[in-house]
Parts: sequence; structure tokens; C-alpha cells
Amino acid sequence: MKASDILKEKGSMVRTISPDKTVIQALQSMIENKVGSLVVTERGNTPVGIITERDILRHAGRTDAWKETSISKIMTKNLIIGFPGDDIEVIMALMTQNRFRHVPILQDKKLAGIISIGDIVKAKLKDVKAENRYLNAYIMGKYPA
Ligand code: AMP
Repeated sequence: MKASDILKEKGSMVRTISPDKTVIQALQSMIENKVGSLVVTERGNTPVGIITERDILRHAGRTDAWKETSISKIMTKNLIIGFPGDDIEVIMALMTQNRFRHVPILQDKKLAGIISIGDIVKAKLKDVKAENRYLNAYIMGKYPA
């Protein structure tokens, strides 16, 4: 299974925010859009970083004045991305090696979607269910299912 297979199912929508917005604005957008991350983009939708709920929690734990901090100050600038043709095992490896749960997917330097750890679990679960169906049919002597 490829990253593009997951995006076919979930769509290419990526919630973005500009670096000069504030942390409270990022939090509000995450709540409204029911996402745990926003890709930070500049002119022409160029990705320049990512901010996730983890960054906001960490920052809010350090200062009382967290709400008005500019996103540019707390976002992760070294964005690690994937490509539509990547196997999902590659995306999983990026997540486990770097200890994060979001991988934006770029095609021709443009955002083509984002894959979260939840999307991977969902896709894997579908695979396991399909495999179980075949195993059950095999055990019951009804192979092929
Ligand atoms: P997460 O587990 O995705 O909430 O993110 C944990 C930390 O990794 C946060 O500091 C994020 O800003 C950062 N992060 C998340 N996704 C990425 C990514 N694709 N590339 C670089 N950093 C990331």
C-alpha cells in the first residue's frame, strides 16, 4: 500500500496556517477542523514548518503568555515529508524514527495531503480484516472466499 492509496480514501485536504498567526489561533483552527496538526505555509502555499498539539502543550507549560506567541517561534521548521509513491511502511518508519505522528505528502513541491498515525492504523486494520476473511474462508474450507 502506498501513501497515495491512503490519500485517495481520505482526500488531499491539508489544514494550513501562516507563521505570523498566534498560538491561540492555531489551537482554535485545530479544534474547529478536528485535526492535531497544521502545516505552516508562506506565500503561494509553500510549506515552511508544522505545528502540532504537542508543540502547543509544551509551550503553554512553560509560560502563562502562550496564547499570543507567534507560530513561527514554536513551530518545527525542519519539516520531514513523504511522497505519494512512498510505501506506507516508509511513512511508518519516518514516524517511529522521528517520534512524530504526522507526515505531509508533497507532489511537485505542493501539498498533496497529510498522513497521520491514525490514518495508518485505519489502513492497516482494513488489511488485517481482509486477511482474516481469507483465513476464515480457508479454515472453513471455502477457499477462495
Ligand atoms: P506529533 O507527534 O506529530 O504531534 O509531533 C511531535 C513533534 O514533532 C512536534 O514538535 C512537531 O512539531 C514535530 N513534527 C510533527 N510532524 C513532523 C514532521 N513531519 N516533520 C518534522 N517535525 C514534525
